[in-house]
Amino acid sequence: MTTLFVIEDEPDIASVLVDYLRAAGFTPRHFTDGAVALQAALAEPPALLLLDLMLPGLDGLQVLRAVRERGPLPVVMLTARVEEVDRLLGLEAGADDYICKPFSPREVVARVKAVLRRSQPAVLAPPAAPDPDGLAAPTGLRLDETQGTTTLDGRRLELTRKEFSILRVLAARPGRIYSRAQLMDLVYPDALEASERSLDSHVKNLRRKLAAHEPHHEWIRSVYGVGFSFEPR
Ligand code: CA
Repeated sequence: MTTLFVIEDEPDIASVLVDYLRAAGFTPRHFTDGAVALQAALAEPPALLLLDLMLPGLDGLQVLRAVRERGPLPVVMLTARVEEVDRLLGLEAGADDYICKPFSPREVVARVKAVLRRSQPAVLAPPAAPDPDGLAAPTGLRLDETQGTTTLDGRRLELTRKEFSILRVLAARPGRIYSRAQLMDLVYPDALEASERSLDSHVKNLRRKLAAHEPHHEWIRSVYGVGFSFEPR
């Protein structure tokens, strides 16, 4: 029995979410007030918080910060506008995923499942970490920082330097969503050749190369209007 908190003050949205989550086998508890929900979460932590940004009591951001201070608890943030997500991505206390309204409840359930899956421990060996057994990391993806080489399930991927850099940044924090601006800062520190269009084309090529090895897994998720994240399998 996996208990989830739905912290949402709009009754229609909340009841749809509760119904879908219940149908998906979860045990949702609904809260309309941020402060009440936080108290309950600290007393008996659920598996995940589905957290609206604008709430009475404490707002979603205050709840998120308070939760983050006390340890790892997966949080999926619901927001009313894409611009809010951009702002939220810049904050240190990040959520595990962001969903913009209006959303399809089916998508919310899929994202909740994905966040729960990847919050399982240790999905990627650190780049270039010594590996005494010679075994592949659970994701099957290895990035060798010193050689600049990448292998997927032991097969070599021919990546350009930019593609390697993008993959390295994303894979170091699985599930974390990077905005285009953040990725450009990290991948193009000199900013001479930076443009969103060139970033997008590198990401596109990278996805194509990954897909050539494994067509059934989306390694790099594109979050509409926001940016990209690495999704371990
Ligand atoms: Ca609200």
